[in-house]
Amino acid sequence: MTGPARTTPTRAPASGGATGAHLLLVEDDEAMRRSVAANLAAHGYRIAEAPDAAEAIRRWDAERPDVILLDLGLPDAEGTTIIRRVRREATTPILVLSARGAEPDKVAALEAGADDYVTKPFGLAELRARVAALLRRTAGPNADPTGTIRHGSLQIDVTRRIATVDDQLLDLTPREYELLRTMLAQPGRLLTKARLLRAVWGTAYADEGHYLHVYVSRLRRKLAAADRDGTMADLIVAEPGVGYRVAEAPDPDA
Ligand code: CA
Repeated sequence: MTGPARTTPTRAPASGGATGAHLLLVEDDEAMRRSVAANLAAHGYRIAEAPDAAEAIRRWDAERPDVILLDLGLPDAEGTTIIRRVRREATTPILVLSARGAEPDKVAALEAGADDYVTKPFGLAELRARVAALLRRTAGPNADPTGTIRHGSLQIDVTRRIATVDDQLLDLTPREYELLRTMLAQPGRLLTKARLLRAVWGTAYADEGHYLHVYVSRLRRKLAAADRDGTMADLIVAEPGVGYRVAEAPDPDA
């Protein structure tokens, strides 16, 4: 279990340039897992590896990856168990790594909430293309085709996992980034505290409204520090007792 005090030091800040979307690769075949992980890392992704369902769920809870790559045949549980668990908490894309001829398994995985699949043996270029497509989709309908959300002077590039204000990189922790991305993907929409807590921290945290308060304060401070024209001060609007909403994006022609 991780709270605000324990989540911040676990990953390098975004300011070093070593950014990249965070992928969780769940695969019990060690040779395959290692080679896929090495290839994705060489293309700028940060990879967490899990050889079984227990480790996958532990890492899901602790790290909230951007995309999950999931082998269905795991030693300790069916992969669909992981899909259902993740879907209770978040819309994080899940790409199934499926065995040839396992059509019923593929269908079961998609019905449980997986987003896409590749069939083994798959090409690494195809795998990377699917991952990139899933990442772009996480940016929501307001993103451009490259997966960048623009909201006034704020930009979030979901494939590189970076946020900037007035072209200045924001140094965000993983959960701060996730909270900002979740809110920016749905501008104008009122997001209840429980919904945000489930999306960013998990179901077990749905009543921990103080986390949200602390993280929104930090986000506002970081946004304000990079902001040159003062427009970020009104970005995150509190709806007392209910939640938060991000103001609609300003009209770029206004
Ligand atoms: Ca397997």
